[in-house]
Amino acid sequence: MRVLVIGAGPAGARCAVRLAERLPGALVTLAGAEAALPYDRVALSRLLAGAATIEGLITHPLAMLRSLGIRYRPATPIAAIDRAAGEAVTARGERLPYDRLVLASGSTAIRLPLPGADLPGVVLYRDMEDVRLMLRAAQRGGHAVVIGGGLLGLEAAVGLAHRGMTVTIVHAVGWPMERQLDPAAGALLTRRLGMRGIRFAMPASTVAVEGEAAARAVRLSDGALIPAELVVMAVGIRPNVALAREAGLPIGRAVTVDDAMRSADPAIYAIGECAEHGGRCIGLVAPALEQAEVAARAITGEAAAWAPRADAAALKVSGTAVWSAGEIADDGAECITLRDEAEERYRRLLLRDGRLVGAVLYGDTADAGFYLDLITSRRSVAGFRAALAFGPAFVREAA
Ligand SMILES: Cc1cc2nc3c(=O)[nH]c(=O)nc-3n(C[C@H](O)[C@H](O)[C@H](O)COP(=O)(O)OP(=O)(O)OC[C@H]3O[C@@H](n4cnc5c(N)ncnc54)[C@H](O)[C@@H]3O)c2cc1C
Repeated sequence: MRVLVIGAGPAGARCAVRLAERLPGALVTLAGAEAALPYDRVALSRLLAGAATIEGLITHPLAMLRSLGIRYRPATPIAAIDRAAGEAVTARGERLPYDRLVLASGSTAIRLPLPGADLPGVVLYRDMEDVRLMLRAAQRGGHAVVIGGGLLGLEAAVGLAHRGMTVTIVHAVGWPMERQLDPAAGALLTRRLGMRGIRFAMPASTVAVEGEAAARAVRLSDGALIPAELVVMAVGIRPNVALAREAGLPIGRAVTVDDAMRSADPAIYAIGECAEHGGRCIGLVAPALEQAEVAARAITGEAAAWAPRADAAALKVSGTAVWSAGEIADDGAECITLRDEAEERYRRLLLRDGRLVGAVLYGDTADAGFYLDLITSRRSVAGFRAALAFGPAFVREAA
C-alpha cells in the first residue's frame, strides 16, 4: 500500500510513524512544506525564550524516519490532489501516487488585514522561520508590539522580553487569555507579567502599522501610537484547507471527517488542525496526536474512533503556573473559588448539575490532572464537594 501524508507537523509525523510501524511492507511518504525535520511546534516558545535549542526541538531525526522506511520529503509543498488519478501533485509538478492519503496540513496564522500589515518587521507566530525572524529582530533590541493577548501572544511577549526587548501587548479584551482564564486569573497574570516589564494596552484594537523601519509604530483605535521595531501578530489561526477544497472534498471550517478521521472520500483522511469533527476544529496538540493514532489504525483496517475530550491548556515560559480546562464562562454554573493574594494562588471551579465542567488554576497547577479527570469523566462530585477546591488529598480524606 502507498500512503502519502501531507504535512510534517506533529499530527502528520505521528501518523507516518504509526503507519510505518503497522504496515511494514507499505510505502509511507511524508511530504512537508517546511524545510526542517519534523519538530515540536509547541516548544517554539521555549526556543524563543532561550529555554530550548533548534536541535532540541527535532522530534523525528532523519535516521529514525529512515529506519522506519519512511520517505521524508521536506520543502515539498503539495499544490493539488488529483483524486481521479489517486495522485498528489507537488508545487514543482511531480506526481506522487497514493492508495491512501492523509491530510495533516495544519493551520496558518492569521495576518490582520490592516494598513501596514505587510511591512517588513511585521511577523506571525507559527513556525521555526517566524521564530528566526523574531530572534533576529530581538538582537537589534528596541520595542516590540504583540497584537493578541491569547496564549501564543503572551508566550511571544515573554520570549521577546527575555531577549531584552521592551514589549507591549495589545489585546481586544479586558484581560489576557480570555478563552482560558476568567477575569480574576487574568488580572493576576497581567500583574505578574507587568512585573517582568511587559505592558498591556487592553481593551484596545490596532488600526494600522505605520512609519519607516527606524520609526515604526502601531496605531490604536484611540489614536495612540506605540513604537514597534517588531510587530508580532498572534490573533488566531485558519485551517489549511485549500487543497481539500480544490479537490472537491466537503469543507466546513476545515475538512469534514467521521469518527475514523475519514473524509467523504474513503481514500482520504484528515487529522489535526485541518480536520473538522462533529462540527468542531481542534487547536491543541494532544487531540491532534490522538487523531493521528486513530487514522493510522483505521488505515490499517482496525476499528478506530476518535472522541473529543475537554480542552486543557497551560501557559508556558511565563514563570508562573497557569492552567485551565473545560468551560470558562460562568453563565448559570455554580462557582467555587479559592484565593490567596499573598501567595498569588487562585483556583476557580465551575459546576453544573453536581459535576465539574471547568477549572482555572493559577500559581499552583499540581492538581491539574485530578480536575481534568473529573471534567472528562463527568463523575458526580456531590459526595466531596466541600473538599473539591482543596485538591485530591482532601477529597480522599473526605471520602
Ligand atoms: C508557538 C506555539 C505554541 C503552541 N503551544 C501549544 C501548547 O502549549 N499546547 C497545545 O496543545 N498546542 C499548542 N500550540 C498549537 C499546536 O502547535 C498545534 O495544535 C499543532 O501543531 C497542530 O498540529 P498539526 O500537525 O495539525 O498542524 P501543524 O503543526 O500546523 O503542521 C502542519 C504542517 O503541514 C505543513 N503544510 C501545510 N500545507 C501543506 C502542503 N500543501 N503541503 C505540504 N505541507 C503542508 C505545514 O507547513 C506544517 O508544517 C502551539 C502553537 C504554536 C505556534
